[in-house]
Formats: sequence, C-alpha cells, structure tokens
Amino acid sequence: MQILEVEHLSKNYGRIQALQGVSFEVKEGEIFGLLGPNGSGKTTLLGIVTSILKANKGTFSWFGVRANTHSFKQIGTILETPNFYPHLSGYDNLALRQKIHQRGSKNDIVEVLRLVGLSERAKSPAKTYSLGMKQRLAIAAALLGNPKVLILDEPTNGLDPVGIAEIRNLILELRQRGLTIILASHLLDEVEKVCTHTAILKKGELLACGKVEEILSKGITIELASESLEKLHDFLQNRFPLVSISKENEVIKIQMSENQVDLAELNRICFEAGITLHHLAKRRKSLESVFLELTDN
Ligand code: ATP
Repeated sequence: MQILEVEHLSKNYGRIQALQGVSFEVKEGEIFGLLGPNGSGKTTLLGIVTSILKANKGTFSWFGVRANTHSFKQIGTILETPNFYPHLSGYDNLALRQKIHQRGSKNDIVEVLRLVGLSERAKSPAKTYSLGMKQRLAIAAALLGNPKVLILDEPTNGLDPVGIAEIRNLILELRQRGLTIILASHLLDEVEKVCTHTAILKKGELLACGKVEEILSKGITIELASESLEKLHDFLQNRFPLVSISKENEVIKIQMSENQVDLAELNRICFEAGITLHHLAKRRKSLESVFLELTDN
C-alpha cells in the first residue's frame, strides 16, 4: 500500500531554492530515510508533507489521496524538540496532550509509555528525564491515537551512544508493530542501520532513491590476484568488456553490482582459462562512500 507520494515538489525561500522537483514514494512498512547534508532540504520537505509549509510547485498525497484532515490523524510527527511541562510527570504531560489534540484515549497513554520503555518512570517529573528519555516521551506523544505513520526529524540528534541505540531499537520495534516510519537524518550510519529505503538529497535535488541495500550494492568491488596480473587483467577485460576493471596495488579490482557477482563462478572461469587465483574477495562499499560519491561536487 502506498503511504506517501511526492511529485515534483519545489520550494524556494526568496532566492534560496530549498527543493527542486523532488519525487519519490514511500510504501507501507518501510523505514524511509531522507538523507542529506545540512541545508539539503530535508526539514523543508517534511514541513511540506505535514502541511506546515506550502510548496511552490508539485503535489503530495497520503494513503493514495490528496492530504486532508483525516489523513493527518493517521500521522504522528516530531519535527522539533518538543517542550514538555518540566514539573508534570511523563504521564501527565501525555494526558494533557491527549486532551488538547484529541488524539487517542486515556487508555492509550499507558500503552505508549510501555512501548517506549518509560512505564517505570511514568510518574517522575519530565525535568528529571535524560535527553534520550525526553525523546522517547516525544515519540510516545506522537504515538497517541495509534497513527499508521511516524515522522521524525533527526531523531538521535544530541543523544549519547546509549540513547542513540535505544531510539534506533525503538524505531525498529515500531516497524515490527506495523508502523511506517519516515525520518530525516544527516547521519549515514543511522540510515544504514535502521532504514529499509532512502532518498538522498543534495541542495534540494534528489540524487538517488531506493532500497538501502540496492544503493549499497551499486558499490561492490571484487579483488583478484594471480601470478601474472597482466594476464588476469586482459582475460577479465575480454570476458567482461562492459565492466570497469583496474589494477591497483598488486590486485585487480572489478566494480560490479551485487546481482552480477558470483565469486565461485569467477574462480571457475579463471581456472578454466589457466589462471590460478591466490586472492579473491568481495568488498562492499559503505553507504558512506556511495553517499560521498553522489554528493561530491
Ligand atoms: P538541516 O539538517 O541543517 O536542518 P535540512 O536538510 O533540513 O538541513 P532545510 O532546513 O530544509 O535543510 O533547508 C534547506 C535550505 O533552505 C537551506 O539553504 C536553508 O538555509 C534554507 N531555509 C530553510 N528555512 C528557511 C527559511 N525559513 N528562510 C530562508 N531560508 C530557509
């Protein structure tokens, strides 16, 4: 099922072009990461699809229809660091929100606090919470009313490693429970670890979009070495004329995509051509190197 579709979205702030014709689709069950350096337009994009901002061009739809009040009831968002009343407990803060925003019922509060792992501290004043706990309380608030989609902007910003791990695990758990999650992040590591899909933005333009593993698999390098590198190089270049093959530091490197790679087959082909390999390895480029190549000027 389609959750969100954005088509040719453009937005400018005066002369600053924050988004330029961005299109992509998010499907049910995905953890979709908008990835890009600071200023690439992630927050602007999330602002538009939550109707906080207006696009100059383009359209978006939620659940297959142009956004309306009903669709927003099914979306939980945290776009800014939320302010809680410091003297009120986590529970009372949620109760207040539930009342003001009319999302969910009182019974939901206990459940969302349990989901984010704050049951034991539900009665403590919010001012005694760590930053990670405050972020989890914010997620609990966004989960009131049992939304289908959760939108998070830089969910682990400012957290220590333990807090980061907790939020990442929580995101994965929420997906298990059937939520679709859309998050913005400038951290490659974050997108690589938690997201199923990603859209890479640079200066408001969409550079790449797809499954994280597919974007990653565009960067497979195979290393081979044999007694005569010249012979090996010529043989491979003849055999795979369209593939990029180079000689570096006593190894031959071949760039391939994941579905082209079968090491056993490669070994057999070389052996049958009278070449014995003494080194054969597959190296996966990290999303970081793919990202750097994509966002390179
Ligand atoms: P960050 O992670 O730093 O928030 P981002 O990828 O979310 O970055 P945006 O905040 O969407 O990017 O900003 C995109 C561009 O639009 C930037 O050049 C930014 O300076 C500009 N911009 C954003 N909001 C405004 C505004 N209210 N007025 C003018 N320019 C703005």
